[in-house]
Amino acid sequence: MIIKRYHNLYQITFLPHLFPINCFVVEQEADLICIDMGVSKFTDMVKEIVHQTGKPLNKLILTHAHGDHVNGTPYFKKVFPEVLVGISKRDSYLLKKDFRLQEDEPDKPVKGGFPKNIIPIDFTFESGEFIDSLEVISSPGHTPGAVSFFEPQHRMLIAGDAFQTRGGLAVSGVLKWQFPFPKIATWDRKTAVESAKKLLDLSPELLAVGHGNMLVKPEEQMKKAIKVAEGGRKK
Ligand SMILES: [Zn+2]
Repeated sequence: MIIKRYHNLYQITFLPHLFPINCFVVEQEADLICIDMGVSKFTDMVKEIVHQTGKPLNKLILTHAHGDHVNGTPYFKKVFPEVLVGISKRDSYLLKKDFRLQEDEPDKPVKGGFPKNIIPIDFTFESGEFIDSLEVISSPGHTPGAVSFFEPQHRMLIAGDAFQTRGGLAVSGVLKWQFPFPKIATWDRKTAVESAKKLLDLSPELLAVGHGNMLVKPEEQMKKAIKVAEGGRKK
């Protein structure tokens, strides 16, 4: 486990060299908010950050319903029973094992690994809502209800698996041989490219993702990655 920091954002990484999975903590004025809980072990590190900052943890919000982003939630909830857990309304159905597509969605099967255990969810949210300091930006493609969180003060974008930085920056659905899992688990690449463009339009100063290191001033690399994804060639 490693903890890295950018302004008020902490990135905790599990298995940094083998199968890196990230969890984030955003330090707000009065309290902390946590993003993604892929493995139980993150909870101890989050506890450490709570201790270090002296601020209470308020919520855990999930970028999407894949197991590697939610599997640690039941244990987390045992340790932090008072903390509210939220996910997008759309992906909350996936957690209930309802994989039916909605009318306006591309007719492609939802992919990827979903949790075997019940994930305790206290609230759902939709695009455009603010959860404390973070704006919810719908960014489907990897899953139908995947979201990103944007912190406007430092222009930090926490994009879940809409992008990956492990193995070089790539839009979800583009194969990177060094880390092929996000591609394998992506529902609809075309939708993912549209979402990637929407995220680029936010002009983030920092891009943080589910798998790989944070990227400062990511715009040029995001543009390139989108071009590659639009080219349709596997790279
Ligand atoms: Zn993932």
